[in-house]
Amino acid sequence: MQLLMNKIAEEGIVLSDQVLKVDAFLNHQVDPELMLAVGKEFAGRFAEAGITKVLTLESSGIAPAVMTALTLGVPLIFARKRKSLTLTEDILVEKVYSFTKQETNEVTVSKKFLLPGDRVLVIDDFLARGEAATGLARIVEKVGAEVAGIGIVIEKSFQDGARKLAEAGYRVESLARIASLGEGRVTFAE
Ligand code: 5GP
Repeated sequence: MQLLMNKIAEEGIVLSDQVLKVDAFLNHQVDPELMLAVGKEFAGRFAEAGITKVLTLESSGIAPAVMTALTLGVPLIFARKRKSLTLTEDILVEKVYSFTKQETNEVTVSKKFLLPGDRVLVIDDFLARGEAATGLARIVEKVGAEVAGIGIVIEKSFQDGARKLAEAGYRVESLARIASLGEGRVTFAE
């Protein structure tokens, strides 16, 4: 997606050869126009997939995921990283190791919102080792719903997440694919 790649090239900050900072438009300040374009792109790619729910992980997945859900005309559920005191009903829990925070979170979703038979589009901001997407997929499958696809805003193709998800049989659509963050700059995959 050219618009997104331009934004990454102009405003992304290469923190190391492993980590890209995009807090100018996705992870802290949010560019709503870009997020709407991202949502429309995911919605177009998964238009024929019979999606009934979009699922993401708080907080950085919410902006692209809500625009995707809006365009598809389905609800968005965001998994919580901490157990909320108000979350008193039956919950689904998965342990997810965070690549950037280097800690394991217990990620929760209420059983009230994710139902057997749902066809779920999992959305996340980044794909690195695939931990977040895999954790969300496990939650979906635990309730007897189906992962209809995984939509990633920025895939770091030099890490093994994309390969692992493909090997597990998931359809993964990434809007920008980064081949390298070496030498302090972003190199996109072909
Ligand atoms: P994974 O679970 O695939 O290993 O990593 C994806 C998660 O880690 C995303 O939810 C994202 O929040 C975070 N993440 C991974 N790599 C990066 C990165 O280079 N930059 C930022 N800002 N977040 C990242």
